[in-house]
Amino acid sequence: MAALRTLRARALVVPRLARGHAVAVEARTAPPADGAVRNDWSRAEVQRIFDGPLMETIFRAASVHRLHHDPSRIQLCTLMNIKTGGCTEDCKYCSQSSSYKTQTKASRLVDIEPVLEAARQAKANGSTRFCMGAAWRDLAGRKSGFEKILTMVREVRGMDMEVCTTLGMLSPDQARRLKEAGLSAYNHNLDTSREFYPKVITTRSYDERLDTIAAVRDAGISVCSGGILGLGEKDEDRVGLIWQVGNMGEHPESFPVNTLVPIEGTPLENNDPVQVHTVLRTIATARIVLPKTIIRLAAGRHTFSETEQAMAFMAGANAIFTGETMLTTPCTGWDVDKAMLDRWGLRGMRSFEDAESVEVLDKAATTEAEASVAP
Ligand code: SF4
Repeated sequence: MAALRTLRARALVVPRLARGHAVAVEARTAPPADGAVRNDWSRAEVQRIFDGPLMETIFRAASVHRLHHDPSRIQLCTLMNIKTGGCTEDCKYCSQSSSYKTQTKASRLVDIEPVLEAARQAKANGSTRFCMGAAWRDLAGRKSGFEKILTMVREVRGMDMEVCTTLGMLSPDQARRLKEAGLSAYNHNLDTSREFYPKVITTRSYDERLDTIAAVRDAGISVCSGGILGLGEKDEDRVGLIWQVGNMGEHPESFPVNTLVPIEGTPLENNDPVQVHTVLRTIATARIVLPKTIIRLAAGRHTFSETEQAMAFMAGANAIFTGETMLTTPCTGWDVDKAMLDRWGLRGMRSFEDAESVEVLDKAATTEAEASVAP
């Protein structure tokens, strides 16, 4: 025991030479992951998790993952673009911004029936969440379009699917109406850290994004908010994003991790691809900081090998977007994804399953804890 204490004391003074070297010794002295939901993370604490030896961080994340989720389940989601291009925002990664000359052609809001048909097809293929995205800043001046979208939400929800939309900035009243129509979740990504954000988008502020997220939350809709890797950000920015959502009063129910798919004509067309280690590090850190959140492997997943995706599932990712396209970028199809999940002993998640399993696991943990202190 004394020898062990000496070893620990030595480990604590080992200088941190470089990521993955001396820190590997330090990791053995790190406090065990407890998986408790916290909203008081310091940025330095999140940075330390992010900078840890990758395999240790993935192991820790996998342990946290198992406290709150069934690790054999991956949710299949399908995202449909219901209004393409012509957007007045200037997000530097986006082919749909009217600020850049890209191959994407602007189109009007699609009709209700093709959307419902796409949702039926997604459901038949095993998707349990159907997301609809519109390329615009907000719903201002779109009264009839909004009514159409409310109908789409009602109908898709009526198919017993989780239904999500991403429609730009929302007012509290618009959020309330979406909730009444049966919306399960609203996607509004913060994209990156507060500091790096102005280098990517200038037409909408970080605080405006946070206001929309608050309106969604206040309306009782689940928040889906994550980021994009490969925008030219640094590790501190990836940490800044996770720290930001980790300190929200309530964590987002869903945290999408996108990797940039460079689009010709956009300012980021020549960005270097993000390294898979960075993606895994981001996912594992997010899993530890956001223990109950569903982490979604989103745009850019098609660029990763099956083994790399399996590592992402081990690190805590538990949802994928699947189908024909993902907004304007390629997506892996259902058959390929189902075969992949099968090979790794994974299964699709049922609609609303994760919330139930979290509740069940929480109850089990409480009962166990009570039993352990019983006289
Ligand atoms: S990401 Fe969304 S808000 Fe930004 S330019 Fe593209 S469609 Fe518009």
